[in-house]
Amino acid sequence: MPHANRISRIRSKLAGLELEALLFFDMRNIRYLVGFSGSDGALLVGENGVILMVDGRYVTQAKGEARGAEIFEYSDKIDGIARVVTDAGLRSVGFESVAINFDHYLNLKGKLDGLVLKPISEEINSIRAVKDQDEIELIKKAVEISSRALASTLELVRPGIRERDVALELEYRMKGKGAEKVSFETIVASGKNAALPHATPGSRRIEDGDFVVIDYGAVYGGYSSDETCTFAVGSVTDRQKEIYGIVKDAHDRALDSVKAGVACREVDRVARNHIESAGLGEYFSHGTGHGVGLDVHEAPRLSARSEDYLAAGMVITIEPGIYIPDLWGVRIEDMILVEEDGCEVLTRMPKDLRIL
Ligand code: ZN
Ligand code: ZN
Repeated sequence: MPHANRISRIRSKLAGLELEALLFFDMRNIRYLVGFSGSDGALLVGENGVILMVDGRYVTQAKGEARGAEIFEYSDKIDGIARVVTDAGLRSVGFESVAINFDHYLNLKGKLDGLVLKPISEEINSIRAVKDQDEIELIKKAVEISSRALASTLELVRPGIRERDVALELEYRMKGKGAEKVSFETIVASGKNAALPHATPGSRRIEDGDFVVIDYGAVYGGYSSDETCTFAVGSVTDRQKEIYGIVKDAHDRALDSVKAGVACREVDRVARNHIESAGLGEYFSHGTGHGVGLDVHEAPRLSARSEDYLAAGMVITIEPGIYIPDLWGVRIEDMILVEEDGCEVLTRMPKDLRIL
């Protein structure tokens, strides 16, 4: 009964927060807590009741999917929420302040005069960080679909093909192998474009001597995969080999530092120190990793300023990179499952330098 356990965990926070109920607006959190996968609604979790509020478009779906929740149908969202909260006789309610827009908040506040409406974000930010067995199975399936799709797409990565055609083919193959959708817009960045950490695939044709960065993922059962491979095409210079080796070592060292209890900023420091010691710190412009689950980017964050700590059951990425403007870039990203004494690497593509 994963959903019942998740609701109990939320309830156990209520007393400490001096609140009678929590109001959720983030659809991923709502899916996590009750299983409803629609794209609009709100969820009230109180001491005694759980009420899923949806408009008419979602009533049938909510009845079919939601576990352990009463369904309330509204025609106006804010009116509906105000009515449910008022009817429940609540006096203090926490709400997901990061997931409601300011106009809606003002409107809701106006309708709940006299009630304490307390913004809660920090306290529930990491509720999904530790995965249970069911979630890990879905993530593994998402990884399997995506890596099989990439393995079969690599034969196309040759001088002359456009980045966008590689991306299109990879996405088509992921869907063909059972992905519900892609985790995010697939990145296929070649040559100079590989120096942009978030390049969109364009009409550039891959050339001999390029690095090609492919960052991609599939969604299965609502859960995402996320992996980056950097390949060399045709030939590779000594400098390219050297840079690839530095990123790979940073990745391996960070991976070795992972186990339950370690500070996320420590894992980031291990990767960053290695790249800095090679004199290339300025070219590693993003964090070392992030949690992955119902969202492709979720808690915890692995960056220099992160306050998070690793725990067994978290699924995170390790993804250092070096991006040399106007020249090329390298990123190596694996998804791993944090364990008490180390980690299990979930992604399957080998990460030694491969020349296609
Ligand atoms: Zn990625
Ligand atoms: Zn990532």
